[in-house]
Amino acid sequence: MEELAFQNITTDLLTDPFFEEKNIEVSVLRLDKIHPVISGNKWFKLKFYLEEAVQKNKRTIATFGGAWSNHIVATAAACRMNGLKSIGIIRGEEPKELSQTLKDAKEYGMELFFLNRRDYKKKKVPDTILNEECYLIPEGGYGKKGAEGASTILNYCNKDHFTHICCAIGTGTMMAGLVNASSEDQEVTGISVLKNNFELEEKIHSLLNRDSRFCLDHTYHFGGYAKYNQELIRFINEWYRLHHIPSDFVYSGKLFFAVRDLIANEYFPSGSKILIIHCGGLQGNRSLAKGLLIF
Ligand SMILES: *Cc1c(COP(=O)(O)O)cnc(C)c1O
Repeated sequence: MEELAFQNITTDLLTDPFFEEKNIEVSVLRLDKIHPVISGNKWFKLKFYLEEAVQKNKRTIATFGGAWSNHIVATAAACRMNGLKSIGIIRGEEPKELSQTLKDAKEYGMELFFLNRRDYKKKKVPDTILNEECYLIPEGGYGKKGAEGASTILNYCNKDHFTHICCAIGTGTMMAGLVNASSEDQEVTGISVLKNNFELEEKIHSLLNRDSRFCLDHTYHFGGYAKYNQELIRFINEWYRLHHIPSDFVYSGKLFFAVRDLIANEYFPSGSKILIIHCGGLQGNRSLAKGLLIF
């Protein structure tokens, strides 16, 4: 299995006449380059959970996710690398043909259990699957340990250079970590990729080390989690043509779209230096019809 290549992480300064005209500097922290499958924040969020599991002598890690979940496949791979067993509780009935993501997870040694959507929602798992031998990681790595891991992301760039940090939000765990690691005069803005997930603010607050300010935007979900339209696909392809940065339709595509749109609407003051966190997630693009994306 391919190693994780943290040395591949770069901070790419974008050249774009549109940004120059607005006098805004935009850079992208390329966490997507760590690994083709275990990219972005997932490894960071898992790090301290796995450490605790080992300390507690747990040899099996169990967690939750959907058929195309970045978190599921990253957990499978991380467990494999650490010599731990892994169990994936997957939302929905078992399909005739597994998604490529679940095939990969299985390849990394993860045992898969399918839960109907009603039980999944309540995280009602039969005792035969989860027992006291298991170390349970919450869905999406949400929790203090996840945030603690995510706060180390900014060690991979010259963080003091930036006035603004922008990221995509699922559970809000990474956002909390970034807020904890940022300084008082930096503004962290999160773009929620879920529709009307107004519990987010509370959920992020509960993971903060101190009472810090942050900004949430709920307007760029494109219909909801993993929903997309032609406009988003066109944008993702255009962004790739312009900046040679691939993005995914669930998280980073919506994030780049949002930042560009916010700049167009003069949300950021002139002179701002923005850091966009690219968390990868590209493996999920395999659920799209072939040919939709140009990369
Ligand atoms: C998981 C993920 C996120 C969101 O992270 P949270 O900590 O759940 O908010 C953002 N981008 C990508 C590509 C991801 O895989």
